[in-house]
Amino acid sequence: MIIDGKKVAFLILEELKEKVKKFDKKPGLAVILANDDPSSRIYVASKEKHSLNLGYKSCVYRFDNSITQGKLTELIHELNENPDINGILVQLPLYSHLNESEIIELIDPRKDVDGFHPFNIGKLYAGFNPYAVCCTPKGIVKLLKAYNIKIEGKNALVIGRSNIVGKPVASLLSNENATVTLAHSKTQNLKEYTKNADIIVSATGKAKLITSSMVKKGAVVIDVGIIKQDNGRLVGDVDFEKVKDVASYITPVPGGVGPMTIACLMENTFELFLLHNKR
Ligand code: NAD
Repeated sequence: MIIDGKKVAFLILEELKEKVKKFDKKPGLAVILANDDPSSRIYVASKEKHSLNLGYKSCVYRFDNSITQGKLTELIHELNENPDINGILVQLPLYSHLNESEIIELIDPRKDVDGFHPFNIGKLYAGFNPYAVCCTPKGIVKLLKAYNIKIEGKNALVIGRSNIVGKPVASLLSNENATVTLAHSKTQNLKEYTKNADIIVSATGKAKLITSSMVKKGAVVIDVGIIKQDNGRLVGDVDFEKVKDVASYITPVPGGVGPMTIACLMENTFELFLLHNKR
């Protein structure tokens, strides 16, 4: 069965739209774009569009590479203090002269809508409730749950150990009582692990890394990868056409995990808005 991320994301967004209408004040999301990566520009434009569709206040700060660490620091401090802003998102990567981790750590953890601040990451790893859970990992677990896919007791293999996808998704699945293995580029004989997995989450950005002979019959395959081919087509890490005949559930690229990431970002913004307006 093909997991329809677009549909699940649409339902989340529709529900949010109704919830937001009940408030006079609107959730506010600030997005900072300080790189010249074309994909980042597209992602930021999409975040802005979704915010406006939901009736959020959207502030996008776009910078050329003359932006300094000092100016960015000042902006984060201002946004931390701004009562109209509930979520602050720094689109990564930043220009190479900027210190990414220092900037992320400046964000008030209560406004860290991406869930990348060490405070929120630490809470996630500890199994406590972070103010916000990283959007792509959160979206993946929501997709599994939307399709009633059992996580508890399953062998889950996460391929890729980045701070934004692999590591947090491994933590979330472990918190959901899966037995989690975290593989990466130095893993020897990846097939040995994939063959044993009930759930595979692949987040490497390597096209067709996962072939049908690597997947156990009936496994669930979640493809996080987004690779733009020379012909402009987007593909994932998984050889979708062949693996779909072996897997019980599989996400397509595009239309799988991607739409869930943006829906979870919107949900996180709303949840932080509720947190800040709690009496
Ligand atoms: P990254 O480059 O930071 O990390 C990639 C990880 O894959 C590394 O840990 C590396 O060790 C591992 N890896 C690379 N080659 C491997 C191999 N041959 N075998 C096993 N492991 C290997 O990437 P990232 O930021 O985590 O993103 C991964 C992919 O997911 C990219 O294609 C990115 O565009 C995509 N992505 C999608 C979404 C979404 O919303 N769908 C969100 C974030 C990232």
